[in-house]
Amino acid sequence: MASGIVTPKYVSDFSCIGPDCEDSCCIGWNIYIDKQSYKKTVAHRDLKTLAKTAMKKIKRSDDKWAIIRADSDGACPFLDVNRLCKIHSLAGEDTLSDTCKTYPRTSLVKEGDKYQSLYLSCPEAARLILFSPDAFMFERKESGLKNLLSTSPLWASKTYDNSIDLLLNEHLSWQQALLAIGLLINTADKVWGNEVDADQLDIRLEQLMLLAEKGVLQEQYKTLAYADKHQVQAFATIHGMFIDVHPRRDGERFKTVNDAISTLLNDDKTVDIDKINHAWNTIASPALEEHGDIFKRYILYYIYHEYFPLTLGDAPQSAFRLLVLDCFMLRCYLAVIAHKNNGLSESDIHLCFQVYHVVRQHKPTFIKGATAMMEKFNFSSVAGIISLLKTGV
Ligand code: SF4
Repeated sequence: MASGIVTPKYVSDFSCIGPDCEDSCCIGWNIYIDKQSYKKTVAHRDLKTLAKTAMKKIKRSDDKWAIIRADSDGACPFLDVNRLCKIHSLAGEDTLSDTCKTYPRTSLVKEGDKYQSLYLSCPEAARLILFSPDAFMFERKESGLKNLLSTSPLWASKTYDNSIDLLLNEHLSWQQALLAIGLLINTADKVWGNEVDADQLDIRLEQLMLLAEKGVLQEQYKTLAYADKHQVQAFATIHGMFIDVHPRRDGERFKTVNDAISTLLNDDKTVDIDKINHAWNTIASPALEEHGDIFKRYILYYIYHEYFPLTLGDAPQSAFRLLVLDCFMLRCYLAVIAHKNNGLSESDIHLCFQVYHVVRQHKPTFIKGATAMMEKFNFSSVAGIISLLKTGV
């Protein structure tokens, strides 16, 4: 069969908002320039003078041939007074580096098709993914190319499909759906380790759907422990990492989140997770009801975008732990902002998700740090990792 291109509506609707962007990708990032773009820019009549000071040749690879030297505000010097790119306006799109040409677009190949997506770190992409009513309408078109050579293992495609079925189960909240996905992942781990056959994943799905219908999973979720110490360790480690590596940690958006966290610290400046969870229960969670099931929407994006559970190319359990950790951090960010603003507006929700993904989706050190933290604090069982989501006894 000819290969296809799968495009969700959030991708086809995307268009860069340039000067109106509240967190432009042309400010505060390391922008790499590929060899071809570098050569064209330095040779361009109207750009060569600026290029001499704005670009630094590093020759790390053809893709990372040069790097942009940001100005004193951290902005790309090729931005004009209207915050539009001079390389684009004076030399045309062809001269842009691949990074600038494609961001926030990305894609991956699975089952012979190309699946298109957007990074949630781009504010306009985040708006579409989180709030556009038809964001998750998918279209598949023939690409005209021969089948792309990429087939994923059966366990991966089954776990991917079955995770979506559990997520969308109407009987389950997003937290309970994550518990169900965790139980499916236990089976996926066994298939991955060649202990059982991939058909077990469909049998497990049927069992879990039945348990959801009977309310058993919901009861099981209730009985999970409230592990406040684990939550403190996870939150302090991950947010501490954000303070160190967030490319715009001095920017207004990151500071908004950070300042909100400061209002909920203990006197000795340690994290007071009980206060954060109280803010979640009393302000954030009720406020989110007005905005649909934002977490189910986010997890659907996540499963699709990362091709969960192939997220890390490792055991399914590792991908699951990371998914729950991401949801936990976002829940905490939403809780602190809700506490500060006594509610959550659409722009508050947008801020939390977008700011988080600037690090989550672009800093390779994040995965390393998060994995090390979960190993150090022994987040090994499904119950252990899901307990991050509990907000009280
Ligand atoms: S972050 Fe997104 S919307 Fe903003 S300037 Fe970059 S591509 Fe455009």
